[in-house]
Amino acid sequence: MAVSRRGFLKLSGAAAAGTALGGVTSLGINLTPAYAAAQSLRIKNAQAFPSVCPYCAVGCGTLVHVANNQIINIEGNPDSPINQGNLCPKGAAIYQLHVNPNRQTQVLHRAPGSTSWETMDLSQAMDRVAQLVKKTRDDTFVVQDSAGKKVMATEAIFSLGGATMDNEWNHVQQKLLRGLGVTPIENQARI
Ligand code: SF4
Repeated sequence: MAVSRRGFLKLSGAAAAGTALGGVTSLGINLTPAYAAAQSLRIKNAQAFPSVCPYCAVGCGTLVHVANNQIINIEGNPDSPINQGNLCPKGAAIYQLHVNPNRQTQVLHRAPGSTSWETMDLSQAMDRVAQLVKKTRDDTFVVQDSAGKKVMATEAIFSLGGATMDNEWNHVQQKLLRGLGVTPIENQARI
């Protein structure tokens, strides 16, 4: 079947986006080998690091390809028994989570009463968070409830973790928060 240059470019672009290989195939052109070859060339000299998709509790395995200390590709890990190389659309876009000009890379702070955000040094921000957690915990810590039952807790702090956190981080987070007397601890992956 004859395909115009404009039509070919349009279809090739769609195939590169991984969405229309079927459409090209329906015109009698199989771009799968070319697409696969282009992909393997792109990651030819890269190192592959197994990782886990940060987005939800399914925990699909990924391969993060790195060249010259830069992430150049992230795809499903075929060795993962969970997803066997597949990723849902959200997981397939993980690369854009890392490599994105719109990514926020500095701490933004809006002072009480202010209407504007200002950048803040990370260590300064961490100190501020620690101070506020300590103050809130100390101000609201309850040793006994109204029935005289020992509770040793604060209801003023709620912890919402992210699915980007690994097991080790969550272990330490639980220890820290339960040690402070915080009981509402949830993770975004389950919401
Ligand atoms: S790829 Fe999709 S289903 Fe798998 S962990 Fe990521 S968000 Fe969840």
